[in-house]
Amino acid sequence: MNWLLPRLTAGVLAMLAGGCAGFLVSNVEHTVVWRVLAGGAIGVALAALLDTARGYRLIEWLRGSQEQQAPRDAGFWGELGYRVERSIRLREQGLEQERLRLEQFLSAIEASPNGVMILDAGQQIVWCNGVAADHFGLDPQRDRRQRVTNLVRSPAFVAYLQQARFGAEPVSFANPRGDGTLSVLLRSYGEGMTLVLSQDVTDRERHEAMRRDFVANVSHEIRTPLTVLSGFIETMGNLPLTEVERKRVLELMAQQTGRMQTLVSDLLTLAQLEGSPRPAADRWVPLAPLLAQVESDAKALSGGNHTIEFAAANGIEIAGSHAELLSAVHNLVGNAVRYTPEGGRITVGWQQQADGSGELSVTDTGLGIAREHLPRLTERFYRVDGSRSRDTGGTGLGLSIVKHVVQRHGAELQVDSEPGKGSRFRIVFPAARVRTLG
Ligand code: ADP
Repeated sequence: MNWLLPRLTAGVLAMLAGGCAGFLVSNVEHTVVWRVLAGGAIGVALAALLDTARGYRLIEWLRGSQEQQAPRDAGFWGELGYRVERSIRLREQGLEQERLRLEQFLSAIEASPNGVMILDAGQQIVWCNGVAADHFGLDPQRDRRQRVTNLVRSPAFVAYLQQARFGAEPVSFANPRGDGTLSVLLRSYGEGMTLVLSQDVTDRERHEAMRRDFVANVSHEIRTPLTVLSGFIETMGNLPLTEVERKRVLELMAQQTGRMQTLVSDLLTLAQLEGSPRPAADRWVPLAPLLAQVESDAKALSGGNHTIEFAAANGIEIAGSHAELLSAVHNLVGNAVRYTPEGGRITVGWQQQADGSGELSVTDTGLGIAREHLPRLTERFYRVDGSRSRDTGGTGLGLSIVKHVVQRHGAELQVDSEPGKGSRFRIVFPAARVRTLG
């Protein structure tokens, strides 16, 4: 009610002023009563005019953007303007806080490694984060309010959405780019709203496929010698063998057992390489004695059938694990001997580069490898010629071991080969892992 007094005062003052003016200007021939009434009427008209002007100003302000302050008039219109402005400002503050909260919430979903998409009851896209847009090949702005099945046409996805089996197992299908696999899960909420959660499972599927292949390969590699062994055991149990035959059978059995032992030993080496921390960068391994050890093994394996030359590596040291480096060089030189026909040459060299890095090379004049096989050589159980590999005692894991050792030492494996001419395998160690003692 505190607006009432000033308003009445203003009205009374306006009426008085109007009254006086009317009294003075009205015709003196009129009676005093008429003059007072005329003055009063003019006063009321003035007060009403003033009131209308204030009300009009407030309405004009309300019609606008209300960014300016409301008119600060005294009295009724002033108070009304002030109250309206205050409630508008409070509403704006509340909206701003809600907007910030929504923004934070959406940025949290945006940061999610998984795709999140919201569909309305008509399966139209309400919102999706960048990951979902990438997964489904959508544009988060342009494709809003579009029916999702018009844009994502994968039959598995469309069927899953149409069956609306919310809470069921996720469904997997090829992503729209066709270069990977998506796993999608639907959840319903609110009134007919759907939450679509997506995950790129390409790597997981690839690993799973690799694991399955690996188990199948190991089983196959072990089953072959086991079948041979059980055949021999049966033969020895059922047939009377001469001493010479018995010796031959035992020899073949020992060969198969040796094959299984090598396979298990290579598998253990691989498992160890994959499961242990990288070799220390400050444990120095002298190269010369390591090469000497490999040289004597290579000569034994060759049985004098090849020319084998090892470079002197006096004073050279490589930072890392002696056992791992020995295994890598051993595998490379072993392969060179096994894949080089009699009379061939095998050379092991060391070259220090100007930038401090060092290169250990194993060169042979053997069978060589066709270009198309090179990218897959270091895959587990990959063989260019399976029977030759097995005949010479190969497990198909040698270069896979080499690749792991090389990576763990921060080095690089390079292969140059030409069928019929020979191959060169090079391990390039970074400068930080090479030193030369004076
Ligand atoms: P394996 O036990 O079969 O030798 P590796 O992983 O060591 O397995 O090598 C994979 C394949 O690469 C071999 O099967 C062979 O076909 C080819 N290979 C490796 N080294 C050589 C080489 N020096 N010359 C020709 N082929 C090679």
